[in-house]
Amino acid sequence: MCPEFQVHTTMRDLSPFQAGHFDVCVIGAGVYGAACAHSLAAAGLKTAVIDKGDFCSATSANSLKILHGGLRYLQHGNLVRMRETIRARREFMRFAPHLSKALACAIPTFGSGLRSPLAARCATLLNNAIGSDRNLGIAGDLALPPGRTISRESFLQQFPGTTVPGLSGGLVWYDTLAGNTERLVLEYLWAARDLGALPCNYLRAERILTQNGRVEGVLVTDVPSGQPFAINASWVVNAAGPWFDELLEASGIPPVPTRWTKAVNIVVRRELNPDCAVGIESNEEYSDQDAVLKRNKRFYFFVPWRGGTLIGTSYKEWRGSREDLLPTRADTEEIVREVQAIHPSWGLEPKDVSFAHAGLLPMSGIDASGAVQLAKHSLIVDHGKTGGPQGLLSLRSIKYTTAPVEADKVTAIILRDTGRRPARQPAPAQGQGRVPAELAPLLHSRYGSRAPRVAGHLAAADSDTWWLSREPPLLRAELRYFIQEEMALHLTDVLFRRTGLGSLRCPPAGLLTTLAEAMAAELGWDGARQQLEIEQVMRRFAMLPQEN
Ligand SMILES: Cc1cc2nc3c(=O)[nH]c(=O)nc-3n(C[C@H](O)[C@H](O)[C@H](O)COP(=O)(O)OP(=O)(O)OC[C@H]3O[C@@H](n4cnc5c(N)ncnc54)[C@H](O)[C@@H]3O)c2cc1C
Repeated sequence: MCPEFQVHTTMRDLSPFQAGHFDVCVIGAGVYGAACAHSLAAAGLKTAVIDKGDFCSATSANSLKILHGGLRYLQHGNLVRMRETIRARREFMRFAPHLSKALACAIPTFGSGLRSPLAARCATLLNNAIGSDRNLGIAGDLALPPGRTISRESFLQQFPGTTVPGLSGGLVWYDTLAGNTERLVLEYLWAARDLGALPCNYLRAERILTQNGRVEGVLVTDVPSGQPFAINASWVVNAAGPWFDELLEASGIPPVPTRWTKAVNIVVRRELNPDCAVGIESNEEYSDQDAVLKRNKRFYFFVPWRGGTLIGTSYKEWRGSREDLLPTRADTEEIVREVQAIHPSWGLEPKDVSFAHAGLLPMSGIDASGAVQLAKHSLIVDHGKTGGPQGLLSLRSIKYTTAPVEADKVTAIILRDTGRRPARQPAPAQGQGRVPAELAPLLHSRYGSRAPRVAGHLAAADSDTWWLSREPPLLRAELRYFIQEEMALHLTDVLFRRTGLGSLRCPPAGLLTTLAEAMAAELGWDGARQQLEIEQVMRRFAMLPQEN
């Protein structure tokens, strides 16, 4: 260990959960649970945050990575929502600038109606004006330029081969790309931990415990050992994502009836549009019931991401078990067929697909054409006010983007009810040590202000022994940091959430073996366990065509 770095070893430890009493226990560590834990801890509330799986292993790991600044809410005429999303996007950028990037997005204009250049110019002016404070406190290179309209020639130069009938140009606006949504959730959790919160993964909430009409904690099971115990808490925040209603039901609390849609994205290894995301209408009929400006086709977005392209999103009502949700080959082939139809010149083929995401989102119904209508609003249910126990809040979210704003609302409700004043906690300084100059760009781009903590796990000054893998680059210190400070227990935790090495394409067999062996050395796995861990990774790629 480099002596100049102080390393705080915070291995997964259950004793503080068993012994303590918490002001709040947050169930679920997706982006909503993590943002809640951070907001609550920052307000001085003693907070536990638990997840039945790894942190950020469900819906929040499956997004299209766009932090939307509200342009889409213009069509709903919902200015409050627009302002909230602009604020939330700004908060994300300030919180984790190293994981944020300005993303140009474009849609084609055509015809003389609501998709005409004139309508696009009006939308741009309004969007620029309503979001005039979008860059407040944002570092220069992250600042989002104002939107604009572009000519047909510029659009075709940017997106050659677009075959939209009557194409007259494009509307361009800027959003934020959260290149690694999983690490962004981890950032919130570790920032919450710095402020005194206790996060723990693989701790499943079985039941919310109540007495005399008031919440008194959560009955949990430690997944690795199967050991049950109770966490005592005055408040419970149910941020269990698609499981939030099941958890209420298991606790004997009237659930909030919710229909769910399976939402799927694919990742392709080709960079179809390297500089700009583009939204193109698919052939799927769709009418947005709430929109002032109704449209009748669903958009597919093509987002440049890590040298490939994210494409989505397709929606289908889901009535199956939530545990079984994985993208299937049929899901990915359907999206490829759709892309072939709307942009034939890209020549996309099933073999280009390198990964796929699936998550469940709340839906409001099915429209006349059979298309899924997504729910349009997040929900915070204060159960004490709807005949349920006091001290329980449930969150039902629709967008990654709005998590910080909804989290602050949760904190405000709890502070108001308890009559407590927010006791703003100063954010503690990160590690004091020096990051070796040759590693600085890599570590800062991955871990921001936590880079010195990661560097603290460098075993020796001899750079030859630093690397676990040179291509893709991964340091032994990073793996030790994941295990010792970020509670990584499985190979999937490292590949999908800590590094993202598995979320673009299937990692090569050699890398899987190297990583499994290195984790085995830290965690005492035998050969059979290593094999099992590799099989768990491969399960996530079962949706790929055989030749991949
Ligand atoms: C394909 C797709 C694309 C999307 N694209 C975008 C986008 O570009 N921009 C955007 O803003 N939004 C997007 N979204 C929406 C966004 O991803 C979700 O709204 C958001 O991630 C939901 O976060 P969450 O924390 O509520 O849920 P989750 O991330 O699902 O977190 C809930 C957590 O609770 C845990 N949990 C459940 N039950 C228990 C229990 N009993 N005990 C303990 N833990 C439990 C789960 O393991 C899970 O980790 C997209 C969604 C999908 C599916």
